[in-house]
Amino acid sequence: NNFVVLKNICKRFGQNTVIGDLDLEIEKGSLVTLLGPSGCGKTTVLRMVAGLEKPTSGQIFIDGEDVTDRSVQHRDICMVFQSYALFPHMSLYGNVAYGLKNLKLPADEISQRVDDALKLVNLEGMGDRFVDQISGGQQQRVALARALVLKPKVLLFDEPLSNLDANLRRSMRETIRDLQKRFNITSLYVTHDQAEAFAVSDKVVVMKDGDIMQQGAPSELYQVPDSLFMANFMGDANIFDGHFDGETITINGVQVKANQRTVESKASGHYQVGVRPEAITLSHEGQPEHICKVNKVVYMGAMYEVSVTWGEHELLLQINSTEFDTDIKDQAYLSVNPVGVFLLDP
Ligand code: ADP
Ligand code: MG
Repeated sequence: NNFVVLKNICKRFGQNTVIGDLDLEIEKGSLVTLLGPSGCGKTTVLRMVAGLEKPTSGQIFIDGEDVTDRSVQHRDICMVFQSYALFPHMSLYGNVAYGLKNLKLPADEISQRVDDALKLVNLEGMGDRFVDQISGGQQQRVALARALVLKPKVLLFDEPLSNLDANLRRSMRETIRDLQKRFNITSLYVTHDQAEAFAVSDKVVVMKDGDIMQQGAPSELYQVPDSLFMANFMGDANIFDGHFDGETITINGVQVKANQRTVESKASGHYQVGVRPEAITLSHEGQPEHICKVNKVVYMGAMYEVSVTWGEHELLLQINSTEFDTDIKDQAYLSVNPVGVFLLDP
């Protein structure tokens, strides 16, 4: 069921090894995102899938066929870039029709498909406008329509939303996800933005220095990160030394429960234990071993960021501002929600 497969891919530029030995699989109809800091090799991987860059070694398969030695034109893929890469001297219609005209399709089919594609991205009836007469967000919609209209086997996205402001980014990522799902387009998406990756993906592949650190569904990466790097890259984490007995975890002399995924996947033993900041709440009452000293309360709008000292530990808490009791000062009792508790391999 894997529609795109990268096998033992290595890529060097001169002496510089950018991708060491990478395996990647994309299920048919799913969207997989490469997420990682700038320079980690995301674009290089995408360009190899596109055929714009040749792997130093390894193989790439699309729909069961080895395409490693095939040119861009013979891979049946389309790419959507951050820079849109539209033709400025053409109308929107001309931009979207361009690839279809190259295929020498009949004029009425072209016009029908272009109209349909413009409609999909909410640019119905705007075919006569020129690229410089529309906003950046609309330009990115044209770029998306231009790719969709060709019905490629695989869609590739390289940081497509980076030039848009926050509100547009949010609505565009919904559009992309919606269309991708509706037409079951197998897609590879690249971004350095964790929220964006989570919003659009079936599976997120986290990269660092050309290696895959961990891959999985967004909730899996967030709830069961398997390394300290992953725990911190996915969000904030309070880290303890602890012991897991197969059911409960002891941190700071107190027993807490862990999320179900962690409990199922780990053997008992000593671990570093992560607790997400939003998994800890404060109240006026509780057991003596739950007493903590409240050091700082910062109002952030949607939440309060609270720092407390619990035993030897300095903790960061994020408490929903609709749920935080502002009478809490100096001292409080903490409690831990298991959903935000995970174990890291030593
Ligand atoms: P990302 O997209 O994650 O920011 P890139 O894939 O663009 O990362 O780049 C990864 C590394 O490969 C960087 O160190 C970059 O300088 C290097 N690199 C990318 N393309 C080339 C090239 N054509 N020639 C030499 N080095 C390159
Ligand atoms: Mg890049």
